[in-house]
Amino acid sequence: MAARRALVIGGSLGGLFAAHLLRSAGWDVVIFERNPEDLTGRGAGLSTHPQLIEILRRLGIDFDETMGVKLDTFVFLDRSGQTYLEAKTARTMSSWGRLYRALRDPLPPQSYRLGMSLRRVEQDSAGVTAFFASGSRIEGDLLVGADGVRSTVREQFLPDVAPNYAGYVAWRAMLDESDVPPDIHAEIFERYTFCLPEGELFLAYPVPGRNNETQVGRRAYNIVWYRPTAPDTLVDLCTDARGQYHGTAIPPPLIRPEILAGIKATARALVAPQVAEIFARAQPFFQPIFDLDPLHMVFGRVALLGDAAFVARPHVGAGVTKAALDAASLADAVKGADIVAGLLQYQREQQPFGRGLVALGRKEGAYISAQLKPPDQRSAAELKRIPTR
Ligand SMILES: Cc1cc2nc3c(=O)[nH]c(=O)nc-3n(C[C@H](O)[C@H](O)[C@H](O)COP(=O)(O)OP(=O)(O)OC[C@H]3O[C@@H](n4cnc5c(N)ncnc54)[C@H](O)[C@@H]3O)c2cc1C
Repeated sequence: MAARRALVIGGSLGGLFAAHLLRSAGWDVVIFERNPEDLTGRGAGLSTHPQLIEILRRLGIDFDETMGVKLDTFVFLDRSGQTYLEAKTARTMSSWGRLYRALRDPLPPQSYRLGMSLRRVEQDSAGVTAFFASGSRIEGDLLVGADGVRSTVREQFLPDVAPNYAGYVAWRAMLDESDVPPDIHAEIFERYTFCLPEGELFLAYPVPGRNNETQVGRRAYNIVWYRPTAPDTLVDLCTDARGQYHGTAIPPPLIRPEILAGIKATARALVAPQVAEIFARAQPFFQPIFDLDPLHMVFGRVALLGDAAFVARPHVGAGVTKAALDAASLADAVKGADIVAGLLQYQREQQPFGRGLVALGRKEGAYISAQLKPPDQRSAAELKRIPTR
C-alpha cells in the first residue's frame, strides 16, 4: 500500500519537526516553503528545554556540545554596571540557525521545496489539495499549516482571528564574540545577563556564532530588549527613509539610521554600560510582540502547528519547544486510519498546552504592556516586577 502523503506548509522549525516525525511514522512528507532560498541566514538565539532535546534524540539528532552554549550563572546588572543579584542556572542557549541545519540537512532534497507559496486549500472526504502562487496544485491526505504567526492556512479557516499586538517590541542585536571588547568579555560574556530599566526588560547571553560555531572565540552575543511602544510609534518605526510604511515587519536594512542612532543612545542611558557597549557595536533590529489564542487548530484534514496555531509572547522562551511537541502529538495522533478523528485527538491534547503558554506569556509580559496605561488603571500583576521570578 502506498504511504499516506502529508503536505507541510512552512519550512521553518515547526514544519521541519512535523516532517521528521510524520516520516518516522511512515508518511510520505513534502514541505513547501514560500522563500525562494534556504532559510539559513535567519539568526536568533533560542533557549532550549529538556522536551526539545528529547524530541531531537527521538529523531536521531544528538544534542551534543555543538548544539549550543552552556550557561551556569545569571546576573542582574544595575544602570552603573554593578551586579545586584546573582544565582546559579543550567541553560543551553542554541540558535535558530543551528537547529534549522540539524533538522534540514538529514531530509532528502525532494521533500523540501523552496519558492512554493500556498494560496489556499481545498478538501473533501478523500483528501486535501494545496494551491500555490506558482499555479501548481498538489494533493495529499493531510495538510499541516506550519506557516507561522501570519499563517495563510489559518487566515483561510479563521478569517476573523488576528494576532494581538502586546504593546511592546523586542529590539534584538547580535555581535560576533571576537568583536566584544576583552574587558567586557571577561566580565559578562559567559553569563545570562539581565537589566531592568523601568517598565522594560533587557536580556543578553552567548549563542552559537554566525555559522553555528560553539568554540570559544567563534560564538556570538545575543541581546533581546523588550520596550513598550505605542501603536503610532510602531508605525513610525516601521516607516523607511522614503516614507514607505512596511506594516508591522520592516526589513532590518530599511530601519531609518536616526532610529538606530536613537535606540543606541537610549541603551547607553538606561542599561548597564557593558551591555550598552555591545548593543552599540551591533546592527540592531526589532520585532513587534504579538500573541494569538484561537479556538480551533484543526479543520477536517487540515491542522495548524507551532506559531500558526498559538503564539505565546517570547518570555516563555518555548515557541520552538511547543512547535516540536505539537509535531510529536500530531504524528502520534494520525497513526490510525481515521485522519480526521486523529486530528481532533491532536487538538484535544495540544490546545490546553498552547492556551497555557499564551496565558503565561501574557502574565510575564503584563508589566511591560501596562506601561502604555495610566498607573491608576494598571492591575496588580501589571504593577509587579520581581526580578527573582
Ligand atoms: C523576540 C523573540 C524571541 C524568541 N525567543 C525564543 C526562545 O528563546 N525559544 C523558543 O523556543 N522560541 C523563541 N521564540 C519563538 C520562536 O521563534 C517561534 O515560536 C518559532 O520560530 C515558531 O516556529 P514556526 O515554524 O511555527 O513558525 P515560523 O518560524 O514563523 O515559520 C513559518 C514559516 O512558514 C513560511 N510561510 C509563511 N507563509 C507561507 C505560505 N503561504 N506558503 C509557504 N510557506 C509559508 C515562512 O516563510 C516561514 O519559513 C522567540 C520569538 C521572538 C519574536
